[in-house]
Amino acid sequence: MNGHYPNPAEPALAWAEDAACRGRDVSEFFTKNQRRVQEIKNLCERCPVREKCLDEALRAEDTSRYGIYGGLTAEERARLGRRR
Ligand code: SF4
Repeated sequence: MNGHYPNPAEPALAWAEDAACRGRDVSEFFTKNQRRVQEIKNLCERCPVREKCLDEALRAEDTSRYGIYGGLTAEERARLGRRR
């Protein structure tokens, strides 16, 4: 399974089979280029498993995690996590 989602080795993440990022180059999700960040966010916006991806990213979050998950950058997830 290729793509970019939290803990891809976790068997419980069967939902990742439906991810819009399936088959994409993972490095695209770690770009600092703002135009590319917006393109990836647009992809996540259309992803049928976005909510599950974001929930899993927030659950698995640690200080070393970065990149876009569930349509949010690490900084945006950190802000959301503090509000939850
Ligand atoms: S929300 Fe984005 S990062 Fe998460 S599975 Fe969907 S396309 Fe991939």
